[in-house]
Amino acid sequence: MILFLFSGLLTMGQNATRPTSIHKSVKSRTDAIFDSLVKIRRDFHRYPEISREEKRTSEKITVYLESLGLEVITCVGGYGVVGILDTGRPGKRIAWRADIDAIATNIPDVVDFSSKNKGVRHICGHDLHAAIGMGITNVLAHHKNKLNGILYFVFQPAEEMNEGAQAMIADGLFDLIQPDEIYGLHMSPYPVGTIATKAENVFAHITVAEIIYKTSHNQNALVDFTKKLMKSAQTYGPNAEFWDNNNLFSPKLGVTNPNTIYKDYTALMSDFEIQQSNDTLKIRILLNTSTKERLDLFLPLIKSKIEASGYAKELLTVRFNLQKGLPVMETPMNNEELTYKTIKSISDIYGKQSVIPLYGVAPLQFSDDFAYFQKSVPGVYFFLGGSNPEKGIAAMPHTPNFAVDEECIRTGVNYFSSMIIERLQE
Ligand SMILES: [Zn+2]
Ligand SMILES: [Zn+2]
Repeated sequence: MILFLFSGLLTMGQNATRPTSIHKSVKSRTDAIFDSLVKIRRDFHRYPEISREEKRTSEKITVYLESLGLEVITCVGGYGVVGILDTGRPGKRIAWRADIDAIATNIPDVVDFSSKNKGVRHICGHDLHAAIGMGITNVLAHHKNKLNGILYFVFQPAEEMNEGAQAMIADGLFDLIQPDEIYGLHMSPYPVGTIATKAENVFAHITVAEIIYKTSHNQNALVDFTKKLMKSAQTYGPNAEFWDNNNLFSPKLGVTNPNTIYKDYTALMSDFEIQQSNDTLKIRILLNTSTKERLDLFLPLIKSKIEASGYAKELLTVRFNLQKGLPVMETPMNNEELTYKTIKSISDIYGKQSVIPLYGVAPLQFSDDFAYFQKSVPGVYFFLGGSNPEKGIAAMPHTPNFAVDEECIRTGVNYFSSMIIERLQE
């Protein structure tokens, strides 16, 4: 999960109803390998590697996939690893993606299998993503004779730098594999035993709106005018419940409620950044929107209002300029039909309580470069619950106390192995 920082100044920082024999078999295989997956996860956790340096991690994954009989391609877009499980029977081609990199941080670890690599820690849960991806591979390889089609397992480096997915694609990923669908997950603060997702974007659209004027006078008045204009485009006032982080996941107002306050919004997420020179005035602000429509409407609205004002002649540019030539953060966009079908299959097999449908997106500065795979291949990005309040475990990525209930490994391997089998059988 990429955490986007703007000027370092953020306002926020049951039972199975369809227990067919193959899914019973998925469960027993998952139970059989669970302890080994916990060991693998803890090994990755002890030896975390930052983006572009995932050498050891990728070697461990390669050996594991080869031991399961997969064809393995290494060094795809850096330390990316691709495993191919061909059943030899015609059918769908489905890809599962797991990101594998850790983060440079000196925040002390909270587990007793803490990082031995000084200044590096799995604080985003990619150690779990890797272990769960290996577990799904194991379970599906174990059932190979009962499946049809081709399965691809994509272990992606450098997610935290927002470049690993693009690097794998640029290195010919989609020449090596031709998936019809692609899926992936991220650890999340939802309760262990659950997954959560929604159609379309699962994160807010993130960008920086930048307005540049060419003028040597009136600059202070222009600043005031522009601030007022931008604030008027916001959907929530300064004191709204919207800005209370405690509401993000609350049952009444949060993203899991069909009437969530995080369903439809345009929000200014930082203070204004003002740059003045003799003849130029630049005003920048971090912007989040809940939908693509709101994102697309923002610039034309601001531009038309400035053009209709007395400042039309001074206006030089209105644009999105996130950083390094990137206008907006690419956000995972879930295919609507596949979202519906995968949610249904998981809740049919593992019970309704296993899936939390989402109705909005939290205004947090997170995204995932899984988005780049979805530009070529329809798919769904899921949140995997890792929190367990009874044990005092809160699985909020990038926070100092980030930890997970390792039972989420079992959940992830069970649910998504079964989900992929159902997709193959459609
Ligand atoms: Zn992450
Ligand atoms: Zn992250």
